[in-house]
Amino acid sequence: MIICKTISLLKLQLNLIKEKQLSIGFVPTMGALHEGHLSLVRASISQNDCTVCSIFVNPTQFNNQEDYNKYPNTITHDIYQLELAGCSILFLPDVEEIYPEGILSNKKYNLDYLETVLEGKFRPNHFQGVCQIVEKLLVIVEPNQLFLGQKDYQQCMVIEKLIELMDKKREIELEIIPTIREKTGLAMSSRNARLNETEKENATAIFKAMVHIKNYLNEKNFDELEKEANELLQKNGFEKIDYIKICNASDLQEVHSRKSNQKLVVLIAGFLNGVRLIDNMQLI
Ligand code: AMP
Repeated sequence: MIICKTISLLKLQLNLIKEKQLSIGFVPTMGALHEGHLSLVRASISQNDCTVCSIFVNPTQFNNQEDYNKYPNTITHDIYQLELAGCSILFLPDVEEIYPEGILSNKKYNLDYLETVLEGKFRPNHFQGVCQIVEKLLVIVEPNQLFLGQKDYQQCMVIEKLIELMDKKREIELEIIPTIREKTGLAMSSRNARLNETEKENATAIFKAMVHIKNYLNEKNFDELEKEANELLQKNGFEKIDYIKICNASDLQEVHSRKSNQKLVVLIAGFLNGVRLIDNMQLI
């Protein structure tokens, strides 16, 4: 695996690949890699000649400085895992390389409704920061395919919208990969590293709450289900619950009762011992 810390070095490598008309799959991450990230890398490798993974903890998407400061860093292990998986190129820039003129930007991405609900509502400017970095990375890498995890359901929709808004040389195909979970049901997340064993056990309440909602979808009304899920999280030590919402899977509009043929997803975000966890599950 080639490790590029600068854009110019990365572009040199990518030009060699593009000259040979080889396909490029791209997996952007913030590091502290786990099986969830690696499943994206493996999917990219299986569908492309060359896989580029980036590791960059993007300061502009954190609306909480402490969350940014405490973001786990396991870079030696990450490099080893990517080598083992067969990744071709790791892009590992620092903040100055990505934002030579500073992190402030006047550019505003028009994300409409997506920015006013769920993560958009509870993390002001988060998706603007996500778009800022993902656009930069896509312009540099120009991949054929972009691999994202369903774990960040709303982010997938935001990036789909970003790709529509971007002026690209060629189409970028979006590949969304299912969420990888621990045996307990807990969605793998870099932030889980900040939980001790008891907290990890308590954190499975998110998965249990989603399964509960799925199991009783036809029997109870949605407000009642959301309330029961909320109680389960509170009982398991979640000190703050940002949202538990059953939504239309295609546009994230909140749904209060079931209509036939409507695909639904439940999305949850809550804090356990100061660590913010999110998850989602498709219901039908
Ligand atoms: P992050 O490093 O958290 O920014 O995540 C990088 C990519 O990995 C994003 O597309 C995430 O949605 C995806 N990802 C994170 N956790 C998981 C998981 N448990 N299963 C599948 N994909 C994941």
